[in-house]
Amino acid sequence: MTASQERIRATAGRARRLAGRGRRFAGRVRRGLVRRARKQAARVHLPAFLEGSTGGIGNALLRKKRRELAAKRTFGAHDLARLEQLLRSADEVVPIAEAYARRDDWPERFATVRHDMDRDLENAVRFAEWEAEHGIRSTYYVLHRDWYWGGPRASKPSALVVQALRRIAALGHEIGLHNNAVALALETGLDPFDILENDLAALRRHGFTITGSVAHGEPICHQVGFINNEIFAECIRPETHRPDRTLTWTDPAGASRSLQLRQRPMADFGLEYEANFIGHTRYLSDTGGRWIRPFAEIDDVFDREGGFLQLLIHPVWWAFSGETVTPRPTIVPAAAPSAATVGDPSAPPFRIVVRGDCCSRRAIDMNRDLFGGNPQMVRDEKARTDFFLDHLSVGSPTRDDVVRLMDVDRMGTSLRHYALGQVERTTLEADSAQLLVFDNYADMNFAAWQHRDHGWKLWVHPAFIRDREAFEREFVDIRQLTFDESLADHVRLIEEYRRRYGDVAVLYLHQPVAYYRKLEPRIDFRAIGPELEKALPNVYAGDLHDADLEPDDMGSCGPGQTLHFTGPTYRKMISVALEKGLGEWLTPSKSAILS
Ligand SMILES: [Zn+2]
Repeated sequence: MTASQERIRATAGRARRLAGRGRRFAGRVRRGLVRRARKQAARVHLPAFLEGSTGGIGNALLRKKRRELAAKRTFGAHDLARLEQLLRSADEVVPIAEAYARRDDWPERFATVRHDMDRDLENAVRFAEWEAEHGIRSTYYVLHRDWYWGGPRASKPSALVVQALRRIAALGHEIGLHNNAVALALETGLDPFDILENDLAALRRHGFTITGSVAHGEPICHQVGFINNEIFAECIRPETHRPDRTLTWTDPAGASRSLQLRQRPMADFGLEYEANFIGHTRYLSDTGGRWIRPFAEIDDVFDREGGFLQLLIHPVWWAFSGETVTPRPTIVPAAAPSAATVGDPSAPPFRIVVRGDCCSRRAIDMNRDLFGGNPQMVRDEKARTDFFLDHLSVGSPTRDDVVRLMDVDRMGTSLRHYALGQVERTTLEADSAQLLVFDNYADMNFAAWQHRDHGWKLWVHPAFIRDREAFEREFVDIRQLTFDESLADHVRLIEEYRRRYGDVAVLYLHQPVAYYRKLEPRIDFRAIGPELEKALPNVYAGDLHDADLEPDDMGSCGPGQTLHFTGPTYRKMISVALEKGLGEWLTPSKSAILS
């Protein structure tokens, strides 16, 4: 039994004894009066001196809340294990304030976990303990003036909430404010800035460092039409909601109250961030007791492509004390499957040899119908064009070489995959090909090192080189390819593939870099496609004006940065090549001739 449970049992016993004494007294004197008093006591809560309280919160209320909250669990042990595994795949998991401070410079797989405590104080403590046991630090946003705080008019937090927050903070977690200021102002008639100022000061007086908040949402926000963070100058939505509008709320008893919205900067309150505005690139929440999108989908994309993941977890949904778990099905977004994305798996396979990266892969995968419905890719990625030509003369490094030179175990999953994958040369060993697809990402991006004796090349991630001095004794820095080198290598490699696979057409895709500042200095590589069209027969370059690009997975390469575009964007890009003559090569008759 925990200390608080013991306390509750003791106070309940005292309450029973006092009630018993009362009954004996009544039996002697006035039964009727006591019956009325007991009836009244059952209707309102027993007075605190009878009922007892824990940390300033009445025990009857505490018991009632515990019962209600324990019946809400929808996530159990299996979900905790999956969550732990997802977080383990991150390079780093940090509280929100720390993630915000590093929003422009994060490791490949960066995760931050936020807990909106809402109504469940005790489960927040249990979650915080579970995280601490698993080496996870996160952020807990306390819902000020909720029942465990002491109610909407309580200017001071109860001892109960202070004690819980102390425990959470002592485990290494951040404490933030779950901002409910506007809703509380409508409910009580108090000024929202006063509420905010008062409650932050009260928490800080207890020693909590609070630099962030996040808006709480509840029915009144939807009924009246506001977000609690609209009192911050940084969080307004002027396109859709006038920042100075008047909110009016009519309570269930029929009384109306109005509030004119105003804003002040967060800094006025010693706040640095609002968690909805920290610039994450991936987001998953358990709102409503279910994942808002399939967990496996986030797990998979985070594993493959990394990014800055923000997880929102409400402790109330999670079972830590053997409660009954009633899972709710995940909402699966109604993605419209189309011929473009699904293709026609029963169609004869169309074999494509791809020396390219995500641009080629996504362009084909998201437009399968353009490639006969059943494209089959043999693909090498993360290797420059010259690496393949080297392979034919001096060979290639092996995976063992990569492991010997770089500490791949310390790398995140996708970086490790790329580092090891750069030595693969499957495109030189395909059975057949009906189309060649190239993109210019690797030649634009990778700086290479050449082995002083063997002559082959690879790229290395400087942060993972095992022994820099030994490495430099063995390799010479040959940096990035020039445009002329890349063009000449492309010509030679296409000729090489055609020796193997016949005179097949080439679809050449320019990897757009309009949302990837790092490669803007290499924008002259955009001309590789048009130059190849001049240098070789049956090369068709697909490229689009930057203004026609529709970015996808924004933030996957850093804040505001991406190398990914939507399926329709790639489709337009491919269409440019189709109209130049590639279309003829993709018609069933032509591919039938070739296969
Ligand atoms: Zn909330």
